[in-house]
This record gives sequence, structure tokens and C-alpha cells, in this order.
Amino acid sequence: MDILQTDIKNILGLGPKWRTLFMEDMDISTFDDLLQLYPYKYVDRSRIFQICDITNEMPFIQICGRFVTMQTLGTGRQQRLSAMFTDGTGQIEVLWFQGLNYVQRQINYNDEFVLFGKPSVFGGRFSIVHPEMERADRAQISAGSLQPMYNTSERMKRAGLNTKSIQKLMNQLFNIQLQATVNETLSYRILNEYHLVNRSTALRIIHFPQNYKDLEKAVFRLKFEELFFVQLGILRNRNINRHKQAGIKFSEVGPLLTDFYKKHIPFEPTNAQKRVVREIWSDLQSGHQMNRLIQGDVGSGKTLVALMAMLIVVGNKLQACMMAPTEILATQHYEGLSSFVKDMPIRVELLTGSTKKKSLILKDLAEGKIDILVGTHALIEDTVIFAHLGMAIVDEQHRFGVQQRAKLWKKGIIPPHILVMTATPIPRTLAMTVYGDLDVSVIDELPPGRKPVRTEHYFHQKRNNLNAFLRQQLQLGRQIYVVYPLIEESESLDYKNLTEGFEYMKDAFKEYNVCMVHGKMKADEKEAAMQSFVSGQAHIMVATTVIEVGVNVPNASVMIIESAERFGLSQLHQLRGRVGRGADQSFCVLMTSEKLSNETRQRMQIMVDTTDGFRIAEADLQLRGPGNIEGTQQSGLPFSLHIADLAKDARLVQYTREAAEKILSEDPLLQAPDNQGMAQRLSILKASSINWSSIS
Ligand code: ADP
Ligand code: MG
Repeated sequence: MDILQTDIKNILGLGPKWRTLFMEDMDISTFDDLLQLYPYKYVDRSRIFQICDITNEMPFIQICGRFVTMQTLGTGRQQRLSAMFTDGTGQIEVLWFQGLNYVQRQINYNDEFVLFGKPSVFGGRFSIVHPEMERADRAQISAGSLQPMYNTSERMKRAGLNTKSIQKLMNQLFNIQLQATVNETLSYRILNEYHLVNRSTALRIIHFPQNYKDLEKAVFRLKFEELFFVQLGILRNRNINRHKQAGIKFSEVGPLLTDFYKKHIPFEPTNAQKRVVREIWSDLQSGHQMNRLIQGDVGSGKTLVALMAMLIVVGNKLQACMMAPTEILATQHYEGLSSFVKDMPIRVELLTGSTKKKSLILKDLAEGKIDILVGTHALIEDTVIFAHLGMAIVDEQHRFGVQQRAKLWKKGIIPPHILVMTATPIPRTLAMTVYGDLDVSVIDELPPGRKPVRTEHYFHQKRNNLNAFLRQQLQLGRQIYVVYPLIEESESLDYKNLTEGFEYMKDAFKEYNVCMVHGKMKADEKEAAMQSFVSGQAHIMVATTVIEVGVNVPNASVMIIESAERFGLSQLHQLRGRVGRGADQSFCVLMTSEKLSNETRQRMQIMVDTTDGFRIAEADLQLRGPGNIEGTQQSGLPFSLHIADLAKDARLVQYTREAAEKILSEDPLLQAPDNQGMAQRLSILKASSINWSSIS
């Protein structure tokens, strides 16, 4: 057994109480886990700064000098000790709010001290509050190195398990018990090719660094390793699945697609649409199950691509289904698809929770009389039995978990081909990784003639200026969306805002029809309200984010997003995508309060600056990190990351992908002697990770 898999209770000085805390709060139970508790930052105690050089932005600094004055100020809870400290280049105030007596006793004007702390500015002067303080003649002990700082939970800190004690445990484990040596996990070839330091060295440096230069190398090596095994895991899993998973093989596109293309298609597909259809077609000929993700910005025409894929299947006498996350969307897809194929011998049906003739549909479906079934989650229920399902399409994947996709697999004797469509643009490098089990196609072109939506950022106070503009648009015959955020935690307040907004619009635009749509309405009421907007009877729709995905009303030209600061970038982008679907110039108005954080301001500015979904996704990634990007949470990496960051280390993601591909293409089972360490590491990682089993 690998010694690193030893229980942390075997570390000298780590008792049962700390062990429980490590396990419960940090998911650390083995030597290996503890060694992968990497410092979140280092404080530099190798340098002594001069007081005259101190600036506003400095993190922790170390200064050396003498105290010249000291006085107690204030009384009671306000009481504090203020001392002036000088090193000959300047003076700085040092403050204590606790332990005043103890500090006073320590301070002797004749002694030289080393202070360590974070400078702050108050009233135009620098000060340091509660610095670490040591007499200069004793300070050598900690000076001269970078000190690692470790994250711990509040509970751990209260139990004395803080940065200092973790430093000690690390020393005990790594330097003493493991004698600073651990097994290498990467092959010599990779170490050489990518100029990586070995694992023992990297771990020693990351936990006990001497300088930044070495540290950089160690960090690089450990990030590389982490991402490399993620890629290796994904690719191995995929190769294995590919190998196993036979798929329905098609040898002709069939009569229906040809017929549709010649006679019924209402417009010329864009080059991107054509390319993606070709990619799908090549999957369908391969004899393996297709697992493909189509990423296409809102309005890029994913529905047409999906239809063409389904026509191949139906033309080959099999059935297809398409699943959407909401009833409204399913209904729209049903209507859209039906109208595309209205003159063709194809039967399309809709199945949702509120379908009335359900038993009839189920019967006909099982008898193979229905060609395309569109629906919601209702499709994955066990009662839904297809005669011969050839393809399942999932729209707006981020609403569906991996498990639900897996359920669709089981609906055919040979698993059906799976096509997932998402409008959440995910940067390519990230997509490769978070959707590791899917091949990715991108529709990176909008149908011709679209005018980019013009976006403006307004403060609530200026609402009245907006109304004149809205009136103008209404007079031109256009329609308007007004969207309010709805967050579970503040639900009742959000509903109040929504209904107030509804009343306000009714009042401000008396001569027009205003409708309201939200998730708490009964399905048929919601449907009726939606329908009145789709048909043009209602001119203004006030809604929550139920309209976020998919809704298609080309005549709508204005999207007003209320409290826009409460939405993430990708959500704003989705919402904005509801307009700009017709030939007219469309507008998006982001309403916010005036008090905004810098990050929010940046977010609004990005929306104003660009309509390119991929650029927005990149920006979102930079601002918030990948964990928060919609669509990436539940898709899940095979292993969690401790040091690498999918956003910041995008280039390394690419390198490691290439490295893993190369190795597997030469040695798919990792049997070469130089590769066996990697095979072992992979199986250890697999065994210790819970979400590995993804969708097989
Ligand atoms: P999304 O990718 O957001 O699902 P849709 O499939 O709803 O986009 O398409 C958006 C609109 O563009 C629809 O009205 C659709 O009919 C239209 N459309 C799709 N492809 C083309 C094309 N090649 N040329 C012109 N219009 C197109
Ligand atoms: Mg769509």
C-alpha cells in the first residue's frame, strides 16, 4: 500500500479531536490529503522594509526599529495603546486594543524590535494594528523565509488548529515521518519534457519555501500534476466508455432530411450550422454512441440543427425526443418543430406534466406511431416507453443533471445517441474539461441580418427618462420585456417588487396591455399570459426569470432588466438574448441602484461593451472563477482541484490535455514501466473521489 494513504491519526501530535475536525471540515483523512492542503498564501519574512517606503497597497511587512513614545488613549471599550515606532527613515503608529498591560511590559525604549503586520492608513497616516513583535536579537528564528498560511474553519481555529499548528504538523509529517520523500507520480518523460521538479521537492518547497523562485517551480509542478490527472481521468474514462458503448449505426441520412433540405427549409443554414450537422452525421455513422454538446449563443439557431439531426433518425425509421427544462420551453420547441415540418409526413407530439391525452400519447409512442416527442422531465419517467428511440436531445443542459441524461440512455435497447444543447457559452478550454465526457461542437455564427442589441446601464432614479423611449418603441409596434430577479431567499420581497413593477407599468402605459408571468402561477394561467405576449396581444410582459431560456418573440425589441446587479453575467447575457431576434434594432436596459461594488460596475460595463457570449463567459470566469459559472457546477470534474484554477491556468489546462492525449495514444492502458506510477496514482484518485462514476 502507498504510505500516503495512511490515516492522519498516525501523525505524531494529531489527536482524535483534530482528526475529526480535519475530516469533517476539510475532507482530509490521509497523509496524501494533508499534503495537498496547500498554503493559500505566504508572508514574506525575508525582507525588512523601511518605514519611508511603506505604501498603501502593501500586504504584510516587516520593519525593524525602536519605540519612542507610548500612551494609553480612551477609556472602557475604547481604550487602546498607541506607540510611535521609528527606524530612522520615518515614524509609524502602532496600536493595540487588547492585552495592553502585557504589551506595555514588553516594550523597552532601548531595545530594538522587529514588527510584522499589515500597514493601514487612517487620517492620512500609516499605522499597524496588533503586529507580531519580537526583540530584534531573538527575531532571527522566524526571519529569512516565507511563511505558509493555511486556511482553516472557524471551528478548527477555536480548537487551536490554526496556521501555526498546521505548519508544525506539516513539518512532523513531511520532514520527520516521511523523511522528505514521497513517490513520484509522473513519468520521467513528462518530468523532462515539461521541466518539472520532482514530487518530493515540490511538496517540500510548497510547505517550506525559501524563496519565490523555487516556489514558482513547485507551484507549477503541482498544478501540472493536478490538471494532468484530471485530463488523464477524463480521457481514460471516455476511451473506456467509447470502447464499450456501441451505438446505432446509420449509413444514409435518409429521405426526410434530404426532402426537408430541398423543399421545406425556410432559410439557408449558416456555415456554422452546416458544420455542426456534419459533425453529428459523422458521429451517427461511426457505430458508437454519440455524446455531443452543442454550444451556441442565444439565437444562433440550435433548434434547426437539432431538427436536422432528428430528421436523420426519423428518416431511418427510428424515434427521437427532445427534452426542455420548462413547460413553456417545451411548448415552444413543440410549436417550432411542428411548423418546420408541417408539410412533411412526420408526427410530433408534446408531453408535459399537464398534457391531457397522456395515455394516448404513451400508447402511440410505444407502438412507434410518434416520430418526435417533445417534453419536459416527464419524458424520463418510467412509463414513457419508446418503440425504438434513436436519439435524445436535451436542451439547456445546465438545468439537467448528469443522472437525468443517464436515464435517457436506458430508454433504448442500444443506447440512443445523445445531443445536449446549451446557450451558456463556456470557454473552449473549460468546456473540454467540465464536459469531458462529451464532444463539443460550437455554433459560432449568428444568422445573417441580426443587429447587435444596444445595451445601456441606467440607475433607478432615471426611470422616467426611459418611459419616453419605451413609448416610442411601442408606437413602432414593438414589444417590451421587464424582468425581475427572483431569489429563493428573498422570495416574498421579490414577488412584491414584481407585482409593484407590474402595477407601475400598467399605470404608466394605460393604453397598452401589460401581462405578468412568474413561477407561482398555475400552468394554464402562465401559459395564457405567455400566449398573449407571443401573439402580440400583450405589449409589455413583466416577468421573473422564467423567460430566461429559449422564449422566442422576434417582435420584442426591448429588454429591461430590473436590479441587474443581482444577476450573474451569463444570466444577463441569456436574458438579453430574448431580444434582437428580429430584423429591428433592439435594446437592453440594465437598471441598478447607484451604490454598486467595483465588480458589479465592471459586470455592467462588459454587458454594455460586448454582445459576444464567449467574451462575456471569459470575463465571468475572470471575475468569479469557474465554480460560479452556470453550467459548470454539477457537470463536475473527476477530482477536485486543490491548487490549479481552471480559469487562471487555462494554458496549463491545454498543455496537460495534450500531454494526456499523447500518453494515452501511445499507451492506452498505461502499462509501460515509465507510466505505471501514473496508472497507480489514477486509480488511487479514482477510488477516493465520489463523483467519479459520472454517467456510465
Ligand atoms: P437558439 O440557438 O437560441 O435556440 P433558435 O433555434 O431559437 O436559437 O433560433 C433563433 C431564431 O433564428 C429562430 O427564429 C430561427 O428560426 C432563426 N434561424 C435559425 N437559423 C437560421 C438561419 N440559418 N437563417 C435565418 N434564421 C435562422
Ligand atoms: Mg433554443
